[in-house]
Amino acid sequence: MRLSLAGSFAQLAKKAEQGRASVTVSKEPVEKPPLEIYKLGNQHLRNPANRIRKVDGSMRDLAKNMLTSMYSAKGIGLAAPQVGIEKRILVIDLDIDNPATPPHIFINPEITSSSASIDTYEEGCLSIPGVYLDVIRPSSIKLSFRDEMGRPKKMSADGLLARCIQHEIDHLNGILFVDRVTNQESLLKELKDNGFDYKDVHAMK
Ligand SMILES: [Zn+2]
Repeated sequence: MRLSLAGSFAQLAKKAEQGRASVTVSKEPVEKPPLEIYKLGNQHLRNPANRIRKVDGSMRDLAKNMLTSMYSAKGIGLAAPQVGIEKRILVIDLDIDNPATPPHIFINPEITSSSASIDTYEEGCLSIPGVYLDVIRPSSIKLSFRDEMGRPKKMSADGLLARCIQHEIDHLNGILFVDRVTNQESLLKELKDNGFDYKDVHAMK
């Protein structure tokens, strides 16, 4: 069977479409974000998330809504438990002011190794607005995950990306960055100054 010219153009267009990121959203903030981001003290943040069995259109829609909500809050990372969804999916974009940079979408992310070297970095969280405190974590990591098409992937990360992935994977396990803060005095003050309650911190042993 021969393809008509129009048919082959359509096929080419389809191929190009498949090669492109399948989750694209505007990075412009919207007045009414699709998802509400829960704050420290809300039990949803403490529930461990479940593995995603099937990566389908509904998962891509969730990723889109998470991204739009994240961009609207001027954040660089968001995990599903922060919007009350107990699924192991997170979105990250370290270049929110550049519309051309595609975001990262991690489904069922698993850290497979962490560096012995550690870094101290001041973290913040969309669920604990206004609070910025130093947290110590491994400087670089290796991880496996599925992308938004369900394809298995592996990657290495260091710098801010490694930091952000570790922070977001913590969310999938019901852990918040304030649980990892070692300076309790600053923690107490920062929480109080921003209207949060120290009793909602689960200090890690
Ligand atoms: Zn967070």
